[in-house]
Amino acid sequence: MIHLVLIGLPGSGKGSQATKLIDEYGFNHVSTGNLLREEVAKASELGNEIKSVMDSGNLVSDDLVIKLLKANINVDSSSYIFDGFPRTGLQAQTLDEQILVDQKYYAVYFELDPEIVISRLSSRRMTKDGKYIYNLQTNPPKKDGICDVTGEELIQRKDDQEDVIKNRISVFFETVDPILEFYRTKNNLITLDASKNLEDVYAEIRKLL
Ligand code: AMP
Repeated sequence: MIHLVLIGLPGSGKGSQATKLIDEYGFNHVSTGNLLREEVAKASELGNEIKSVMDSGNLVSDDLVIKLLKANINVDSSSYIFDGFPRTGLQAQTLDEQILVDQKYYAVYFELDPEIVISRLSSRRMTKDGKYIYNLQTNPPKKDGICDVTGEELIQRKDDQEDVIKNRISVFFETVDPILEFYRTKNNLITLDASKNLEDVYAEIRKLL
């Protein structure tokens, strides 16, 4: 069993690569952003608290995200793609020491210029569950505003607006170094040039498998 931990700026292509990997290899996909959005959709007290943090582009607390992640995976029975987790050094350590114990995994860093991210995210549209992702410039749906696969209406995430995107980028660069350092020390970090097109990036990831 092998697991992949995808690290990168929002909009660096982690979700799109995850979709391709799931189709070809049958990985299970776990995105802490999606799990948190599900919690927000319940409109519980906790959900509303999470919503205000997410809408600003800041990070939800380690405790809460770790608890939510642990409750939603079983790494002994399937291979996972971790998308959007870890976001802090503590999360990286917890994943290694408490979740992926004795499991083989690679951390894959999608390296990308933040300027590209702003334009990619502003034109990003997706299904409500985040499963199918489009870009109005580079990968538009066949029919305006409609998902090619499910036929449902596409949405723009509230935190994909420019001022929030800028904060998400700052948060990313403030927090990523300890995460990369953790995996460098463990010798399981692979860095990819995420400015390349979807297929070229995918070919690089496939080499690992
Ligand atoms: P994402 O869908 O990965 O871009 O995440 C959207 C938002 O959810 C982030 O801006 C954070 O507010 C929150 N979030 C997602 N994953 C995490 C995590 N691992 N730790 C803390 N906050 C997270």
